[in-house]
Amino acid sequence: MAKTKPITIIGGGLAGLTLGIGLRQRDVPVTIHEAGNYPRHRVCGEFISGRGQATLARLGLGQLFDEAGAVRAETAAFFSETKSTAPRSLPSAAICLSRFTLDGALVKTFRKIGGELFTGERFGKDFNEGIVRATGRRVAADESGARWFGLKIHARKVALTADLEMHLSPRGYVGIAKINDGEVNICGLFRKHIGEIGEAQNGRELLRGQPGSPLQQRLGAAEFDEDSFCAIAGISLRPQRAAVRAEICVGDAITMIPPVTGNGMSMSFESAELAIAPLVAWSRGAISWENARKKIAHDCDVTFARRLAWAKWLQRIMLTPALQNPLVTFAAHSDWFWRLAFDRTR
Ligand SMILES: Cc1cc2nc3c(=O)[nH]c(=O)nc-3n(C[C@H](O)[C@H](O)[C@H](O)COP(=O)(O)OP(=O)(O)OC[C@H]3O[C@@H](n4cnc5c(N)ncnc54)[C@H](O)[C@@H]3O)c2cc1C
Repeated sequence: MAKTKPITIIGGGLAGLTLGIGLRQRDVPVTIHEAGNYPRHRVCGEFISGRGQATLARLGLGQLFDEAGAVRAETAAFFSETKSTAPRSLPSAAICLSRFTLDGALVKTFRKIGGELFTGERFGKDFNEGIVRATGRRVAADESGARWFGLKIHARKVALTADLEMHLSPRGYVGIAKINDGEVNICGLFRKHIGEIGEAQNGRELLRGQPGSPLQQRLGAAEFDEDSFCAIAGISLRPQRAAVRAEICVGDAITMIPPVTGNGMSMSFESAELAIAPLVAWSRGAISWENARKKIAHDCDVTFARRLAWAKWLQRIMLTPALQNPLVTFAAHSDWFWRLAFDRTR
């Protein structure tokens, strides 16, 4: 049998680790370089929903979630600062698991099947042939006079009305989801306008919501896990196409879907799966690196175009302050719009 060429993946987040596992399952030698260390908390809603679940099953990773104690989210409720909906059944259940646990479990699987992983060092060389970019979101310049930043913290003693609660506010949104080990994940995306005086408010205060809001009431008795608090800034929500990238990219390195959709992790798993066959073909000498790049980029663009377009508009509508009360009132009386949006963004 012809010798297989090794593949190097830069970035050991969900996309890089999933790709690494998929390639190792096909006997391709793989090395991942990760700038950080494990285990670590990540800013993420920790709500896995959409076609990525089928990817995980095809890669034999479904059991990993059960073993790690993942919980299923089957209902959702929506809130503005003054309006709310009753809990609604999600069109399809989501899987909720802490990233601290999930990333660690993927690392263990990757190593167990022969993957090599280097941590704690940032890769700063050129992305030559044989090197895949899985480095996550690209830090973005300011957009439309605003900067987006994300915050996350875990807590106990939070009584939810649904498995997922989405709280909209003029500053952004906060999602609260039940996760493993009896905790809830509180994760928000917020906007800070350029020129706004002072630094962003204390992150924990933003996650707790405005006085009197349903969000603040919900978190009134919460016991926060301070070690889980994390923050990121410079988030670009402008959709990009994989075809314009000079490198083979997977996950957020291609583009980031607005987090309000809860589909970014799914896209990371799916893009990793789409990259496996072309990279195996390259490794075995059957196609060139450039043809592998074109095939992966084309398949990712075709797969993600519709949901990125829907997500862009959905995010705009949901995070326009004047539309939040009417939107939640509408969602309280009618199922079809949010079910349609749920379907089209995953
Ligand atoms: C506020 C917020 C809420 C979200 N909520 C959800 C949700 O509920 N559901 C959902 O599905 N998605 C959600 N997402 C999106 C989801 O978190 C991402 O889509 C997903 O983590 C992307 O995975 P990735 O592997 O592409 O990138 P990452 O997880 O960011 O991994 C990239 C890795 O590359 C490493 N790296 C970067 N540069 C280098 C370098 N030069 N050398 C070595 N290593 C490097 C980084 O350290 C990092 O570990 C949310 C995102 C945000 C911001």
